[in-house]
Amino acid sequence: MTSLPRADLATLPAYVPGKTIQGAIKLASNEVSAGPLPSVRAAIAEAAAGVNRYPDTGSQALVSRLAERFDLEPGRVVVGCGSVSLCQMVIQATCTPADAVLFGWRSFEAYPILSQVVGTTQITVPTTPEHALDVDALLAAITPETRVVFLCSPNNPTGTTLTGAELTRFVESAPEHVLIVLDEAYREFVDDPEVPDGIEFAKRCWAEGRENIAVLRTFSKAYGLAGIRVGYCAAPVPVAEALRKVAVPFAVNMLAQTAAIASLDAEEELMARCREIIAERARVRSALQEYGYEVPPSQANFVWLPLGARTAAFDEHCLGHKVIVRAFADSGARITIGTREENDALLEAARTFAG
Ligand SMILES: *Cc1c(COP(=O)(O)O)cnc(C)c1O
Repeated sequence: MTSLPRADLATLPAYVPGKTIQGAIKLASNEVSAGPLPSVRAAIAEAAAGVNRYPDTGSQALVSRLAERFDLEPGRVVVGCGSVSLCQMVIQATCTPADAVLFGWRSFEAYPILSQVVGTTQITVPTTPEHALDVDALLAAITPETRVVFLCSPNNPTGTTLTGAELTRFVESAPEHVLIVLDEAYREFVDDPEVPDGIEFAKRCWAEGRENIAVLRTFSKAYGLAGIRVGYCAAPVPVAEALRKVAVPFAVNMLAQTAAIASLDAEEELMARCREIIAERARVRSALQEYGYEVPPSQANFVWLPLGARTAAFDEHCLGHKVIVRAFADSGARITIGTREENDALLEAARTFAG
């Protein structure tokens, strides 16, 4: 009998990162194309002088800064090594093998992997024909064992969002034993007034005594820090305490903490970049629709092409044009909005594929 590694890991799908190919345009990982701001680079360079020391394991300076920025009690804020590690910490802090995690599908591909790594049951609910999360079907899928539901809005990879009315219905109907985790990795790209700011929404829920909703955000997307790994969670105090307990000590490194604070200092400049991406998103979507593609409305820095069986051929065709998209076999292709020139290259590939 072999004892190592855990037998169930044999069936674990690997997280598929977007491909990186020398000389090709990478529109596969929802990164922003522009490099870090000079002020952020300078802060990182300066912090580098101190890396002989351990970082502050509680990221206190960053926690205070976030608490101030969002008008939150510091006890509700937890920083993690990217919000993907906060997803893992949420599952670790709430689920045993007898419990269950619930999410829509397709949604963020890390949810099933992390659920299996932690060793809990997963329940998935198909998205609607319009590629959006199905609020009522998710509510109906909650069981007494369900501890966590991930609501990704805007949803990766489909770009769709939950409206205030849908979120309210969800929160009011979900039993209190379920922690509702609103994953807002792409919040900064939302311009639809029907979509509430999740942190403000959660604060209103908490004020009404509903202490079962948490919000995840990241510096990886709009803030352009994907390579340095830092995200945060706004949560009910007992959940925040539990997250701190399951955290790997010193997981958020010193450069990441510094870069995040410098990015909050440069928030206006960074949000101006997001507005350019939002404008490009509209341009790319209408061009794709003109070429005959179905493109669900997106509130993120990417668009989704539900190509089904044609996905692999589309992926190959784009690679031939030196454009890397993120293909999900037999389902669709997710395309990050890049610079105007990068988007033009993608549109040319898409136009010629459509014929
Ligand atoms: C990118 C992403 C994250 C987190 O990314 P990190 O780099 O780990 O902060 C979380 N959720 C969704 C849906 C994402 O797309």
